Amino acid sequence: MGRASFLRRVAALAALLATMFAMPSGASATHGDQAPLAAGPGAVRSAHPAFAPTCHAASGTDTTIRAMADQEAWTCDGSAPRADRPVAWLRFEAESWLGEERPRHFFTRIARHRSITFAALDADGTLRIRAFGEDEARPLVAGPVFDLPLPEIREETRALIARVERPHSVPLLSEARLIYDAEDAGWSSEEMMLLAMVIGMLILPLFFDLSFFVVLRERFVALHAGMVVAMMVYVLFAGGLVNVFWTMPVAIVSVVAPLAWAIGCGLSALFLAEFLERDAQSPFMRRLTIAAGLWTLAVPGFFAFQFHWSQPVDDRGYFLAMMPAAILTTFAIARAMMRGSRSARYLAVAWAPLILASIERALRGLGLYVGPSSLDQMLYVATAIEVIVMSLAIADRFLAIRRERDAALGEARMLEQLSSRDALTGLMNRRALESRFVELLAQGFDTFALVDLDRFKHVNDRHGHQVGDGALIACAAALGAAGDRDSVAARLGGEEFVVLLRGARTLERAENMRRSIPLRIASEVPGLGEPVTASMGVLELPRASAHALTFEDFYARADALMYEAKASGRNRMSYEKLTLFDSAPTGRAKAGAAGDNAGAAA
Ligand code: GH3
Ligand code: MG
Ligand code: MG
Repeated sequence: MGRASFLRRVAALAALLATMFAMPSGASATHGDQAPLAAGPGAVRSAHPAFAPTCHAASGTDTTIRAMADQEAWTCDGSAPRADRPVAWLRFEAESWLGEERPRHFFTRIARHRSITFAALDADGTLRIRAFGEDEARPLVAGPVFDLPLPEIREETRALIARVERPHSVPLLSEARLIYDAEDAGWSSEEMMLLAMVIGMLILPLFFDLSFFVVLRERFVALHAGMVVAMMVYVLFAGGLVNVFWTMPVAIVSVVAPLAWAIGCGLSALFLAEFLERDAQSPFMRRLTIAAGLWTLAVPGFFAFQFHWSQPVDDRGYFLAMMPAAILTTFAIARAMMRGSRSARYLAVAWAPLILASIERALRGLGLYVGPSSLDQMLYVATAIEVIVMSLAIADRFLAIRRERDAALGEARMLEQLSSRDALTGLMNRRALESRFVELLAQGFDTFALVDLDRFKHVNDRHGHQVGDGALIACAAALGAAGDRDSVAARLGGEEFVVLLRGARTLERAENMRRSIPLRIASEVPGLGEPVTASMGVLELPRASAHALTFEDFYARADALMYEAKASGRNRMSYEKLTLFDSAPTGRAKAGAAGDNAGAAA
């Protein structure tokens, strides 16, 4: 795919997403689509007949119902009514309901208004009037709609006139209908079930998020949880389900739904900026996305409140202010996908159903085609799908981050091992021994045995360094052979080793180790001809004073003993048991030498 054609696709996607962001405002009952006024019974959600207004008008507050009833200044061309005048008038002609039954209820999409007054106009000019303030309108448990009872409509009634004072948005007027029964408004019980299921589907990701956040304090998890809550509130309020639990005043429902949607969209943009891998977005794009998220929280969030004085700009304002986030997030996802981002692929999948549902809703809302109103619910289902796919994406990221952390931990452990181990023999090296020395003394290691191979230079000279290395490895194996918790071996360097011992009979065990060295070397490095023996300088001291000595003290003392062992013929041990009354090794309680002559060189 060429770059230009990809960009064209991105542009198309941006347009679709923009539609998506704009749509739910219509779905949320207060902003957006302007359905043709004369939509007729067929366009209404119930199988029962519902009657759309035939004409509309607008005026100031001082125009009386009587004056409106008599005058001809009505617009009856199917155009949308206006919400930007103090009073909007709707006229329902009696011809609509020719038949036996008379409409008894008025219902419409929820939006803020000051009052609605109905007048049934009889043929003889009689007016029967009922008036309701906004606080008297109760939302139905089915979609973002509310209903009001009409004054009695009789056989001689010519028309019903509705006077809506300070209507805040067009759908309040354009979607107004008269019905026989309040039950004819809103959704079927199956549709309500579906809606309840959507809410249920949103709860699970919320629990995922919370448990992820406990383990992984990543900001994007918290942002996603916020998104899910906003979506949930949106579906609860826009779908009307919230009225099952509490009957909400219109003033609240009409604000909460678009506000929740604005918050959901704003958090989506912030989430995106956090969730996309850092190398999948440029720092500039990331800052821009964050700014768009904050803007969406603030500006469409503000328009959602529908203050009286912001009415002229609210509808368009809400719609237009959603655009930056819609376009930027689409662009960011497309860019991230081009950079091979895994998260962006999840995002694309998660958003696709939302986009499709929004297009469908937009086309239907704009009157471009007529479909069953149950399709409304696709938007809610798409919301649930979006949230669930994003939860999967978060789970996927969670695993990736854990894998990364485990790998990093493993590497750190390996590095630490590398730096504390002698490369040739695998024993602890001098650095590690010195750093652990105080700790080892505290753990009761009170015997310090210095080991040096005898005439090792000779072995190297005769058999080469490689063979010498083999002997060193064998020697290390002999020193570490005990493999118990009561001896620790280290290689100080060259052919010099240290064994620390604790517990019973440390001298005897050290001597056994020393004697095992030539045997081990002979068995692992065959062909040496003569045994490679070792000399030992062993220092033993009373536990209580062990901590008063440093490694250097021990080493210097043991080295002196080693010199003695070498001087007196090699292949032997020279030891000393110290009794200390102060921190310096001063006294020698008992000294001696043990050894055998097997292979001792002259
Ligand atoms: P002595 O009995 O007095 O200890 O005699 P020696 O030959 O062992 O003494 P010296 O300390 O002079 O020699 C140590 C030799 O150890 C020198 C060097 O060739 C050898 N050596 C030191 N490090 C290594 C090593 O890593 N690999 C091998 N193969 N040889 C080493
Ligand atoms: Mg040596
Ligand atoms: Mg040496």
